[in-house]
Amino acid sequence: MSKYIFVTGGVVSGLGKGITAASIAMLIKAQGYSVDIIKFDPYFNVDSLYLSPYQHGEVFVTDDGGEGDLVLGHYERFLDQNLTENSNITSGKIYSAVIRKEREGAYDGESVQVVPHITDEIKRTLYTLNRPETDVVVCEIGGVVGDIENHPYLEAIRQCRGELGKGNAVYIHITYVPIIEMSGEHKTKPTQNSVKELQNIGIQPDIIVCRSDLPLDDGAKKKISQFCNVDKSGIIESVTTDNIYQVPLKLHEQGFEGVALRKLKLDEREPQLEAWTDMCNKAQEVRKAESRIKVAVVGKYVEKATAYQSITDAITTAGLLRDEAVDITLVYSADVQNNPNVLDGYDGIVIAPGFGVRGFDGKIAAAKYARENDIPCLMIGLGAQAGIIEFARNVCSMTGADSQEFTPDTPYSVVASVEPPMLKKGTFPTTITPGTYLSKIYGAPMAAERHRHRFDFSSTHEQLFLRNGLIFSAHSPTGVPEAFEIPTNKFYIGAIFHPEYKSRLLNTHPLFAEFIKVISLQND
Ligand code: GLN
Repeated sequence: MSKYIFVTGGVVSGLGKGITAASIAMLIKAQGYSVDIIKFDPYFNVDSLYLSPYQHGEVFVTDDGGEGDLVLGHYERFLDQNLTENSNITSGKIYSAVIRKEREGAYDGESVQVVPHITDEIKRTLYTLNRPETDVVVCEIGGVVGDIENHPYLEAIRQCRGELGKGNAVYIHITYVPIIEMSGEHKTKPTQNSVKELQNIGIQPDIIVCRSDLPLDDGAKKKISQFCNVDKSGIIESVTTDNIYQVPLKLHEQGFEGVALRKLKLDEREPQLEAWTDMCNKAQEVRKAESRIKVAVVGKYVEKATAYQSITDAITTAGLLRDEAVDITLVYSADVQNNPNVLDGYDGIVIAPGFGVRGFDGKIAAAKYARENDIPCLMIGLGAQAGIIEFARNVCSMTGADSQEFTPDTPYSVVASVEPPMLKKGTFPTTITPGTYLSKIYGAPMAAERHRHRFDFSSTHEQLFLRNGLIFSAHSPTGVPEAFEIPTNKFYIGAIFHPEYKSRLLNTHPLFAEFIKVISLQND
């Protein structure tokens, strides 16, 4: 039977609850246990299909085509483990399931209510993760205690302790402990109130993680321990770090996962954290570096840094492999359209994926700038579609070449609908053309990559592109081109798929690793 750790948040949102949930899961896994992780999101979107990245940041895609909250990316990167669409459950999914069952007559004539029907559905979902092969399930509840929307989830997890038995469920509550600047004093009252609210619901936390900008003094910890009925060993501070990957190490130093494991009656073992610690030390070191690589990420959601979370993460960790600090700037694509010289001074350019026509011409301008100036350039999804359209128009004289997404009657449809028309999402195999730069980068004839697009590169003009110096370097099993390169440039590669979703701290995706390597060598 699996044991459960429930993670809730209080006081304010944006405390890094997802990182804390990812950290406890990662630390327990590092002790040799098998873990699974799930996040409940209290909003009614069924998944992230129609969610703008302005809302919750990047839409993350799992192997099975699940479109989830960006926290799934943190989970996968912290755990180095592939998740599924069942790892992110929204109220939209829960309520849809209950309404569907009601229509099927499954409730025996009863009135269908939040308690017990919605709460039962939440528990049913949670218990599907209870498998012999999983030692511990970590479950994060989105939102903040006191929100109307997350109340059914709190009620459901309250019931879980009784059903699972005391040694099989642990509650971790994350709060904010502000500091009054004038006195430098930590204020514990918001934490006390938040825990009281949780206790009113019937949940007594076992561990309180106190987010703060500065370390907590002993007095503050004692106070929280006394007022919240939590043993002092369970009061863990989580001070703002330079780098999210340091968070689990800081929590481990205070015995975080040990407290949880003891409550779950699981043996404590020596965690394997050497490789992770090495990367974090490297990150600390390169922060001080004077010479830094400058990468522009050209996209349209530049006001929301997390809209490109997996991409910026992959670039940064690729830098660590070369002991390089990378400064990443999000450049608004429309600005590039107005003046491509805004890209002057960058060592490398990533042209970001996206949906919709806004800013697309700017992505085309960025591709032209990178190609003509031989700036290392990695183009992903819509960014790669911009790359191929730019090449068709400006190198192959295919005036008016476009994507069918934007100009359905284009004379040269170099980007055409996926066949049959659909949103292609999830992991698919891709065959890499021998002898290409891509095959050198992957070092394998096949790869499995994650997709999320409605349009593909068209193979109609493959020979014409080839004659003009652009080669398709990967194809789907049915022969649809999926990546291209210009071999005469240093690094000019476009892919319809998303390498960023598979890049991990200890396992950087080779496309990002090579991109940064080329820049690093060029700068030497
Ligand atoms: N909007 C484009 C498509 O649907 C590109 C999507 C993406 O960037 N993955 O094909």
